Amino acid sequence: MSLEAVGLTYPDGDRRLTALDAVSLEVAPGELVAVAGPSGSGKSSLLAVAATLLRPDAGRVTVAGQDTARMSARARTALRREHIGIVFQQANLLPSLTAEEQLLAVEHVRGGSVRAARARVGRLLESVSLDAAKRRRRPHQLSGGERQRVNIARALSGSPSVLLVDEPTSALDRERGEQVVELLAEVTRTHRTATVLVTHDRELLGRADRVLTMADGRLC
Ligand code: ADP
Ligand code: MG
Repeated sequence: MSLEAVGLTYPDGDRRLTALDAVSLEVAPGELVAVAGPSGSGKSSLLAVAATLLRPDAGRVTVAGQDTARMSARARTALRREHIGIVFQQANLLPSLTAEEQLLAVEHVRGGSVRAARARVGRLLESVSLDAAKRRRRPHQLSGGERQRVNIARALSGSPSVLLVDEPTSALDRERGEQVVELLAEVTRTHRTATVLVTHDRELLGRADRVLTMADGRLC
């Protein structure tokens, strides 16, 4: 995954607000890059552009070797489904589904046999260390850390080559937060994802292969 000289602005009254200013970033498979920076510095915008959810005003975004600039909306949606896993701040789990069912629902959308889907879901929940009893619980019966584990497992369900994670620990206490970052380091290695972890909490960055800082839309 790479961003080259990416610029992004938002409308701001009759002017435009610069959210990303010539941002370049290359992340290799199996690498965990952390991006730290204060609130409002452009971290979520960076992820939205990398996720191809927002089209930059300038620069190039390459995912899985493909230049996303000239792609149709449909092609970008397909690229996202096949290559990009996204973990947002809030786990966004469906309240009525068990942990297992959250992932099965995604597998169902992708198609294929139910039996193969169940096996894949089992392996994914195993890889985030959610035990068998907890896999049958609904979100409100899980802790915040466990919900975030399900969230991460769900993001990995299409075997994405890129994993984009936005402030995954903001709703968690210190220890749980560290466990989630530890887990992200682990899945980055085992699933060989190019992972970008965005956080305003500098103390969580010990597990990253590289730490970059965002300030006023610039990355350094
Ligand atoms: P961070 O994630 O580091 O807090 P953001 O990427 O969310 O930063 O925001 C960067 C800047 O862009 C901020 O000044 C924010 O107010 C502004 N911004 C973010 N999203 C929008 C939007 N949809 N419309 C207008 N301005 C936005
Ligand atoms: Mg943000």
